[in-house]
Amino acid sequence: MQISDKFREECGVVAIHAHPEAEKLAYLGLHALQHRGQESAGIVTSDGERLRAHKSMGLVADIFNEEVLTSLRGILAIGHTRYSTAGDSALLNAQPIMVQSNKGAIAIAHNGNLVNALAIRAKLEGQGSIFQTNSDTEVLVHLIALSREQTLPDAIADALRRVEGAFSLVMISRDRIFAARDPRGFRPLAMGHLAALTGEKKDTVVFASETCAFDLLGATYERDVKPGELVIVGPEGISSRFYSPSPAQSSCIFEHVYFSRPDSIVFGRTVDLSRDAMGRQLAREAPVDADIVVPVPDSGNTAAIGYSAESGIPFRLALIRNHYVGRTFIEPQQSVRDFGVKLKLNAIRSLLEGKRVVLLDDSIVRGTTSKKIVRMIRNAGAKEVHMRISCPPTISPCFYGVDTPSKKQLIAANKSIDEIRDYIGADSLAYLSLEGLKKACAEGEKTTYCSACYTGHYPTKWVDVEEIQPVQVSE
Ligand code: AMP
Repeated sequence: MQISDKFREECGVVAIHAHPEAEKLAYLGLHALQHRGQESAGIVTSDGERLRAHKSMGLVADIFNEEVLTSLRGILAIGHTRYSTAGDSALLNAQPIMVQSNKGAIAIAHNGNLVNALAIRAKLEGQGSIFQTNSDTEVLVHLIALSREQTLPDAIADALRRVEGAFSLVMISRDRIFAARDPRGFRPLAMGHLAALTGEKKDTVVFASETCAFDLLGATYERDVKPGELVIVGPEGISSRFYSPSPAQSSCIFEHVYFSRPDSIVFGRTVDLSRDAMGRQLAREAPVDADIVVPVPDSGNTAAIGYSAESGIPFRLALIRNHYVGRTFIEPQQSVRDFGVKLKLNAIRSLLEGKRVVLLDDSIVRGTTSKKIVRMIRNAGAKEVHMRISCPPTISPCFYGVDTPSKKQLIAANKSIDEIRDYIGADSLAYLSLEGLKKACAEGEKTTYCSACYTGHYPTKWVDVEEIQPVQVSE
């Protein structure tokens, strides 16, 4: 069974309780979370009696139209947007996953990665369970259905205690919304409310991976779902329980580096603040004599503003991004060098000609993008290109929900910084230190971070992905 590569998903989740147009709020929430996954999206609603689902491949705005949303009309809703490396059969794995269980109909939407899903799945299959997808999330559904606990909230808590890894998830039943985070709080999950409409008694409670979704809904951010917490919103109001004691928090630092939107509050801190501080810190750690600071848009924008402010070197948008690039594009027969990057980015010669450039991006993964962009900047006349990266070298894959390639493909796991500089063709290359990154993200104030992708020290003990086993485990 080869499913591990399909486990690495980047996703966004949203949940609404209760609103006469819950399906539309979920749709808007997903639109705001589109950057967290562009492969498929889905919404499940409840009208108080039965659940209805619609999911499909593609972008949120293409999947849902007036007709589809009318067919989903409900007062409770959950939604999911997903990116994964899965191929043709990906619709099978699209979420939310909906099932009829002995505790009623339920649906679940999950951001993260369960690192013991394979082991649990093998055990359950040995006992006769039949799985319909190859997503780790389905394991949770089976555990809930098989739980000896009598009530749905107890069965969910029981199931959550049995899984290990990263999960921020929302669930829907006929009359309830559930929201939970894993005990280490790897992935974000925020809770907020929308003031009650005229004639309604209670506020609408909303959950989302990032608070940028609340801003679009007009909702107010209240707090994060806490690590190890299960929040239940039902006819009796809001209740909360800690289904598991929480070990040291290890929230994903890469959410602040790259993944989340800068206008979101993630782990209690505005992402823009962290990125600006990363750029400032990088300017102090790795200064260089240069004429302009240029971001790789959009991922390098905020850190480049910070670098420019701290160094006094002017900020210039000398790379322009075309935001309308789909998943595939027809290439002319006589292939164009660096076609993929050129579809997305173009350089402004009049800004770059004869200039010593600080080029700022958030990360180098395989190194192929940086190599092409450095070439593009040089071809546009730059005299020197000094690459600056607003996080440490990425040396280990993520098993907690971020899509990173295997160690073999991670350039920093296999080459020294000088070798990487030569490979990408830059005059100099420097990364932000881990201490500098943690400081920029205000580690210790509201959260402590997982930085396994930079250290190889994974915060969970037992996992079922072979590749991770030889790697050191830290508590
Ligand atoms: P690479 O060519 O593999 O070195 O890709 C580096 C680029 O990918 C950088 O511009 C990053 O902003 C971006 N990036 C980093 N991590 C991810 C990720 N998990 N998913 C998608 N893009 C990423």
